[in-house]
Amino acid sequence: MAMISKILIANRGEIALRVLRACKELGIATVAVHSTADSDAMHVRLADESVCIGPPPSRESYLNIHQIVAACEITGADAVHPGYGFLSENAKFADILDAHGITFIGPTAEHIRLMGDKITAKKTAEELGIPVVPGSDGEVRPENALEIARQIGFPVLIKATAGGGGRGMKVARTEEELENAVATARSEAAAAFGNDAVYMEKFLGKPRHIEIQVVGDGEGNAIHLGERDCSLQRRHQKVWEEANSPALNVEQRMKIGQVCADAMKKLKYRGAGTIEFLYENGEFYFIEMNTRLQVEHPITEAITGIDLVHEQIRVASGAGLSAKQEDIVFSGHAIECRINAEDPRTFVPSPGTITHFHAPGGLGVRVDSGAYQGYRIPPYYDSLIGKLIVHGRTRVECMMRLRRVLDEFVIDGIKTTLPLFQDLINNQDIANGDYDIHWLEHHLATTS
Ligand code: ADP
Repeated sequence: MAMISKILIANRGEIALRVLRACKELGIATVAVHSTADSDAMHVRLADESVCIGPPPSRESYLNIHQIVAACEITGADAVHPGYGFLSENAKFADILDAHGITFIGPTAEHIRLMGDKITAKKTAEELGIPVVPGSDGEVRPENALEIARQIGFPVLIKATAGGGGRGMKVARTEEELENAVATARSEAAAAFGNDAVYMEKFLGKPRHIEIQVVGDGEGNAIHLGERDCSLQRRHQKVWEEANSPALNVEQRMKIGQVCADAMKKLKYRGAGTIEFLYENGEFYFIEMNTRLQVEHPITEAITGIDLVHEQIRVASGAGLSAKQEDIVFSGHAIECRINAEDPRTFVPSPGTITHFHAPGGLGVRVDSGAYQGYRIPPYYDSLIGKLIVHGRTRVECMMRLRRVLDEFVIDGIKTTLPLFQDLINNQDIANGDYDIHWLEHHLATTS
């Protein structure tokens, strides 16, 4: 591994800007890539160089490996940061960059593959000492589904081995529902991922989604940066995230964090990663590991003061981690609101031109967004246009600050999910931190 002097950012939107900021702070030159729909995007304007890599559809631009490698060769970029989504968990991309002598800022292709398949991920987690959801020992076929479901006990969840974004998942509450659930999950998985393999898990009734942030240097050193609670979801998409979780105390945090850090040491994991759990009745159950930076990483940065992109770049260049576990101090509470260009009630995308944009400020406030006044949101990509991250010394202070900050934020010309957060900040269950993964869907269904 070598020193990195120029990074190509293979992404768009707020995350491209986020990575660019870290590069600038480290004195590393930046190359932005963009589709023809993103020529006037902020990440393109702020980068040292930019290369147009194709037409609007992602598969012809942001997912086009050949074009991205060519852009590296033309600009002399010696490393690529993939952000999240797009090629960030594509092992073939990591292999191809490696073959071209370009550093992939992320884990090894082998570890991406291991965690990209949910069955091998779960087996690996178990071997590394991470608690997992009780379930089938590998793939479930229609012939053996009933026998396995009886062993696990109903209700059960059928999940796609190649799953992502909550697709290919079906609950069977009774023996009668099982055959249909397996068949539907298999056909959905085949359509979405080109792979109909499914497995089975115990269906947990009212869990929270709690995930642990880890970083490793690839040489057997790894630390954890505590947890994030991402239970507030709509259609398995996270909407509001908090660190720390209102449901954990210090001992529980340090215990599960240590289990994860130890597992990453054994694996010799390199880079940033997130180990996701469902948490119910005091128990953690591993569901998957994401081998990349996550959307909600800034709340972890807010409570630890650690810049996760700096750490990713450090370990990719062989400089190691900047901190040991005993150096990590958790301070205060942070909340992130994902601001989408969507109708706040129907969640129908609302692309268009932002006619007025005013970002809030003040102590403990961070806005990560590529949006600006006059920016035209293209209709081709996901609808996340910004993230609002608020930090306070306590959860109460954080919530009071968030209420003030939401009042200050102005985005005109399009619909956004800001009103949803105005609603949540005034809700008693949210104030109490009393919610599980079904709370938001139930709230939306009963208050419309
Ligand atoms: P994906 O990769 O498709 O997002 P995950 O395994 O991360 O799939 O699960 C997504 C969501 O589905 C979880 O956040 C949770 O809401 C729900 N879920 C997954 N596994 C279970 C389970 N065993 N019991 C109950 N809900 C589950």
